[in-house]
Amino acid sequence: MPADLHLHSIYSDGSCTPTELVELARERGLDTVALADHDTVAGLDEMILVGKERGIQVIPAIEFSTYEGDVELHILAYYIDYRNPSFQEEIRKLYEKRKERAAAMIARLNELGIGLSYQQVRKIAGTDYIGRPHIARAMVEAGYVREMKDAFSQEYIGNGGRAYLPKYRLVTEEAINLIHNYGGIAILAHPFHVNGRDYMDKRAIEALVHYGLDGLEVYHSKHSRDITAYYLTIARELGLLVSGGSDFHGENSPGVEMGDIKLVDRYVRRIQEYCRKKQLSYKARQ
Ligand code: AMP
Ligand code: MN
Ligand code: MN
Ligand code: MN
Repeated sequence: MPADLHLHSIYSDGSCTPTELVELARERGLDTVALADHDTVAGLDEMILVGKERGIQVIPAIEFSTYEGDVELHILAYYIDYRNPSFQEEIRKLYEKRKERAAAMIARLNELGIGLSYQQVRKIAGTDYIGRPHIARAMVEAGYVREMKDAFSQEYIGNGGRAYLPKYRLVTEEAINLIHNYGGIAILAHPFHVNGRDYMDKRAIEALVHYGLDGLEVYHSKHSRDITAYYLTIARELGLLVSGGSDFHGENSPGVEMGDIKLVDRYVRRIQEYCRKKQLSYKARQ
């Protein structure tokens, strides 16, 4: 049965709870999913527990935003030892910095005549994890823009826009090392959609392989057939793992449904076998 290895919950910028995600996975005919919230692992215990109860295999994951100069990449970490207190301490700074950044972006919007408060946006987010989708929703609800995507403009919070601010500058190579240090594998998310450059071509991906990148998210809801074929070829040529997921955010990603990407068994098994070996050496190091 198929897998969707890229989901978001209310603990980052998705709109479903982990329990709702498990229920939806059953409805959508999936048997394996990965919760890959941005910068946080807060939803994983619940998701894994409920998954066990309802027969859905849940792979622990997290999605990091990393920087190569001004280029922002997203790196997915699978099977990371997320319960490790020192790992949780390492990622706390990303979360803290997000709070400051959200407040500063809202202040910039205020200067641009958008009368939103931090509390208003926090209410939509539900937690102190505030991402741009929450700000975008607040702008829609207050009538400043018609659709969320209209907030992602140069005038407001689009990349490089007037009220845009970058996140904590986690360097890509350091992120990959962090993932490996805690027993995980590093997969480049949606290589066709990176901020600050056109897309990741073979040479750009090769540079990441030198840092230790383990795989590519070849299948993604925003990759066309041609793009998918392009990255599948690169993954084969560079000997990288192949992953895939919808990047489902519930109401925060209109038009994208869980299971829009169904990764076939063969790729899931390959990821799991590779991780099993890595985990053995990780455990031996502990
Ligand atoms: P942040 O991590 O706070 O910078 O917000 C980035 C998130 O915003 C991504 O993970 C997507 O969920 C969402 N996003 C990015 N670009 C767009 C866009 N053009 N339209 C709608 N949502 C977007
Ligand atoms: Mn997101
Ligand atoms: Mn992403
Ligand atoms: Mn994502």
